[in-house]
Amino acid sequence: MAEFAAAADIPALDRLLNAPALAAALEIHGRTLAVAALRRHLDALRGRALAGELPRAELAEDVVAAAVSAALAAAAAPRLRAVYNLTGTVLHTNLGRALLPDEAVDSVLRALRSPANLEFDLDTGGRGDRDDLIDDLLCELTGAEAATVVNNNAAAVLLMLNALGDRREVVVSRGELVEIGGAFRIPDIMKRAGAKLVEVGTTNRTHAADYENAIGPRTAMLMKVHCSNYAVTGFTKSVSVAEVAALAHARGVPATVDLGSGTLVDLTQFGLPREDTVRETIAAGADLVTFSGDKLLGGPQAGLLVGRADLIRKIKKNPLKRALRVGKLTLAALEPVLALYRAPEFLAQRLTTLRLLTRPQREIQPQAERLRGVLAQAVGVHYEVQAVPMFSQIGSGALPVDQLPSFGLAVRYAGSGRPGRHLDRLETRLRGLPVPVIGRIADDALWLDLRCLEARDEAAFTAQLAEPLA
Ligand SMILES: *Cc1c(COP(=O)(O)O)cnc(C)c1O
Repeated sequence: MAEFAAAADIPALDRLLNAPALAAALEIHGRTLAVAALRRHLDALRGRALAGELPRAELAEDVVAAAVSAALAAAAAPRLRAVYNLTGTVLHTNLGRALLPDEAVDSVLRALRSPANLEFDLDTGGRGDRDDLIDDLLCELTGAEAATVVNNNAAAVLLMLNALGDRREVVVSRGELVEIGGAFRIPDIMKRAGAKLVEVGTTNRTHAADYENAIGPRTAMLMKVHCSNYAVTGFTKSVSVAEVAALAHARGVPATVDLGSGTLVDLTQFGLPREDTVRETIAAGADLVTFSGDKLLGGPQAGLLVGRADLIRKIKKNPLKRALRVGKLTLAALEPVLALYRAPEFLAQRLTTLRLLTRPQREIQPQAERLRGVLAQAVGVHYEVQAVPMFSQIGSGALPVDQLPSFGLAVRYAGSGRPGRHLDRLETRLRGLPVPVIGRIADDALWLDLRCLEARDEAAFTAQLAEPLA
């Protein structure tokens, strides 16, 4: 029978603050936070004492200290945490998209710790332009005349539309009025940019004449948008960048392309599906191309605009450019990533995203077989763990219909009853690990795709499965 305490039995805050059991927490978190946490804890104890449901044992100094220390530690834990992405989606927007190569990580650390020539011309000692740090590289890699960079591709599109299309008309095919995850819709962004959308063609078929008939005195540009996250198949017709550009140029208006994923090299050389590169798009006649830094390009979150020098100049003069500009950390990460593309023969090894995307199934399979036993041990006898082939996706709207042969672990509930609740519980436990393991539940199984668990992370992954999970 527990013995219950009264409110009057609760020790004074000052006495507890001096208790040896709290000394370590005070040292780590400081007096301000420790006093606040202790006060909250004592208030809670008082409430339970008044309700007559506070066991006296909870008033012991070391019990109070342990509870307060745990609360302080939980509050101090970072909210943004590293996780294992075993979802099978390599460029997972909710998990932060591209992982950066070591070159970029080192460069960001340097920029964090010391002043840098962000807008300072080291040759003249005068003021510089932050775009100067990367525009030569971007031009070299894309064949464009000029380049600039903003916060993300949504910002790049907004800026381009406002700088060139404010109170004018922008012609887009109905088949390309896309919504990208997280509330980026071409018609909405167009409105915010002050441009008037002129839709042409139909969802499945747009012809050159549709564009041609839409061009008038108020036309700011013909714009093409990459159908990043869906595919239109069957009875379809779209007009190529080259054709749209030719039509636009014949009437003296620019042709622009929101390319989405920003591929800088031919991916088929790495055994990946084909995707138009930025260089090809420029060569086909696009006057401006916008794309993301953290999708297939494999860099930090950024929006890149490349194209005609006069248009880029106009864009850079727009006040939105200042509002959407990138910070030094983005540029510090972007420069070494772009630099990797200058030596394409090393790319598949050094560019993390590409290395993950090109990991062959034969390399992932033995890993799955090694880890099968480790996971089986951790989840216990009520679950069955198998090493099985599966398919990964590139993700972030890049090449939505293409799948990459991979290998991983499938966990099924082997006990009686409906498996759903048990799988949910297991998924929650994996998500609750110090480095959360993120998988995916489908078809009465929990799937852990091992494509993104590289060899160097395997020991740490295994170590946190040493304790039973289920
Ligand atoms: C992903 C994407 C965007 C948005 O890019 P963010 O870098 O996520 O802002 C815009 N347009 C297309 C076609 C895309 O694929």
